[in-house]
Amino acid sequence: MPIINSIAAMKEEMTEWRRDIHAHPEIAFEEVRTSDLVAAKLEEWGIEVHRGIAKTGVVGVLKGRNGGEGSIGLRADMDALPMEEENDVPYKSQNPGKFHGCGHDGHTTMLLGAAKYLAETRNFAGTVNFIFQPAEEGHGGGRVMVEEGLFERFPCDEVYGMHNWPNLPAGEAAVVPGPIMAAADQFEIKVTAKGGHAAMPHLCNDPVIIAAQMVTAFQPLVSRNTDPLDAAVISVTQVHAGSAHNVIAEEAMLAGTVRTFKPETQDMIEAGMKRIAKGICDAFGAGVEFDYQRGYPATVNHEQQASFAAEILADVLGADKLHRDVAPVMGAEDFSFMLLKRPGAYLWLGQAGGPSACMVHNPRYDFNDEVLPVGASVFATMVETRLSAKE
Ligand SMILES: [Zn+2]
Ligand SMILES: [Zn+2]
Repeated sequence: MPIINSIAAMKEEMTEWRRDIHAHPEIAFEEVRTSDLVAAKLEEWGIEVHRGIAKTGVVGVLKGRNGGEGSIGLRADMDALPMEEENDVPYKSQNPGKFHGCGHDGHTTMLLGAAKYLAETRNFAGTVNFIFQPAEEGHGGGRVMVEEGLFERFPCDEVYGMHNWPNLPAGEAAVVPGPIMAAADQFEIKVTAKGGHAAMPHLCNDPVIIAAQMVTAFQPLVSRNTDPLDAAVISVTQVHAGSAHNVIAEEAMLAGTVRTFKPETQDMIEAGMKRIAKGICDAFGAGVEFDYQRGYPATVNHEQQASFAAEILADVLGADKLHRDVAPVMGAEDFSFMLLKRPGAYLWLGQAGGPSACMVHNPRYDFNDEVLPVGASVFATMVETRLSAKE
C-alpha cells in the first residue's frame, strides 16, 4: 500500500497550506492565526473541534463509520522559532524574528492532510484524535496539554508523532524502539567570593579560578561515572564574570545544559554536579548557588508501537526505505510527555533533497513539500490499519 492516491492528489493544496503557515510563523503559545487556520479546516471537513487546550492547542475528534471502541492520537506541533529566515522564497516569513526553521509548518500540514482524507473516507472503526500542539520549542506545550487533561478528555489507546529529518533522503524514514531523543536539563551556578585589585590577588578570593575548576571537574561525571555504553552530555555554555582587566570579580556565573537518556544517569549527574560545585566552593572558601532545572524527559518509543509504525512505514514507503538501526540523538522533544502517559512512537520522516540542504534550526532550512503526501499517508494508513473495521 504505497502513498494513498487521493492524498497524492492533494499535494498542491497541501503545499499551499504549508507555505501559508510558513509565511505567518508564530512562536510558543502565540499560535493564534495557525490554530484558527487548523480549527477552520477541521470544522469545514466536519471534524469535531476543541480549542483552548494549552492556550492555543487544538484537538480534532473524528469517529469512523464502522463503530468500534479503539482510539488513536496523532500529534503535530504548530510553533515556529524565534529566529530570522535567510531564505529568499515567495512565501518567506512575514513576521520579523520568527521562522518555521524546524518544519512544524510541514508537520501541521501533514496532519491536516490526513484529517481531510480520513474525514472524507471514515473507513475505520473507532476514534482518531488529531492533536495540534503549541510551543514544542523549549516551552513544553506538550506537557501543558497533558497536564490540562489531554488524554482524559480525548482518550487515546496509543499516540504517534512524526518529525521531518533532513539527515535522511525524502521518501525514507526511521523508527526504533527505546530512547530516540534525550532528556534536556539546564543549570545555572553562581560562585560568590571576595573581589578586589587584580594586582593583589592574595587579598581576594577569585571566583573565576574557582568556576574554572568546576568546568573541568564536571566532565568526569560523563567520562568516568556514566556507563560507557550509555550516553550523557554536560555542556557549560556560558561563563560570565568581571568588568575590567584589573579587577577581580566578586561573582562568577556558569550555565549550560545536561542531556541524558536514562533517569538514573540524569539523577547521578544532577547529584554529582551539585556535590562538585559545593565541594569546590567549600574547598576554596567561596559561596555557591546551584540551580538545576529538569526540562523535557527522554523520548522513549514503546516497543510494540514502534514495530507497528515500522510496518506502516514499510508499507507506505517500501521496506528498503525504512531504517530500523538509527542511533538516537541528544536533542530533545516534548512529545516525550505524551509517551510517558500513553504507549506510542515517534518517527523520523526523511526530507533531504528539497530546497534546503541543511539541518533544522538553520536560517536556510525549509520544509520539503515533496514529503507532505508521504507523511499524511503514513498517518492515515496508521488509522485505517490500527482501527481496522475487521477487528
Ligand atoms: Zn526544533
Ligand atoms: Zn521540531
